[in-house]
Amino acid sequence: MSDARLTPLEDGKGPIVLQGAMEMEVAPFIKRLKGAELNVYGDFSFWRGTFGTRPLIISKTGIGTAAAGAATALACALYQPSLIVNQGTAGGYGDLAVGDVVVGSALYNANARYLGRDGLRFMELGALEHESVAAMDFPDVPPLLETDERLRNILKAFLKKSGTSYRTGIIASSDQWNEAPEQIKCIREKTGALCEEMEAAAVWMTAKRFHVPCTFVRIISNNNERGLSFDASVCETLSRILQNFLGL
Ligand code: SAH
Repeated sequence: MSDARLTPLEDGKGPIVLQGAMEMEVAPFIKRLKGAELNVYGDFSFWRGTFGTRPLIISKTGIGTAAAGAATALACALYQPSLIVNQGTAGGYGDLAVGDVVVGSALYNANARYLGRDGLRFMELGALEHESVAAMDFPDVPPLLETDERLRNILKAFLKKSGTSYRTGIIASSDQWNEAPEQIKCIREKTGALCEEMEAAAVWMTAKRFHVPCTFVRIISNNNERGLSFDASVCETLSRILQNFLGL
């Protein structure tokens, strides 16, 4: 199994940070972590253990953009990771089923909304900081935050090799939980998103400020467009899939 591990990442010097928002999303990984030591800062917990010859840090970020952004900033400043693996549950759109795996090719921040006189538009907050005229030209579909191509390809190669089927596509990310099927259908048709969750865009935006590459993988825990309710057991499934990837 070892050649299916994350070996191409061993060129980096810093630790790997594995993130999950909720207890149920980190617990299955923590139980597999060797020599874990717990570091707590405020409400943010980090379990430090080993991945092969280098440290692996598991971070429980908390739910939502504010907590995920703060946990990512802490992780980057405290541990100088060479990369972040952001994983967890997501609500599937369209035909996605509970237990399906999604690799994020891009994310969008569905919180960054501009309500103009002519209707709803979206903002790329990073571009807006530079106050360029172009950044003020708000699109009516959310601008995509592309994920790190190298890490994404390594993750996809691992999943393929380990016989895990997965979809690659866009993840909608914001402090929102959508339950109305008609509304989800509109979002899906407008944006092409495969699923929604609450942390990925914040992690992307924060890690970018530290120049730390991230990869994003989700397991579908519910599909509110199809009326499939939340199944917490998928967290263990994703942990089993990723354990060799992380050398656990
Ligand atoms: N604990 C709740 C559900 C999770 S709350 C329960 O047991 O029912 C939201 C968390 O799950 C967030 O961390 C988010 O990233 C993820 N999530 C899963 N499905 C989601 C959905 N349909 N919409 C938004 N976030 C979702």
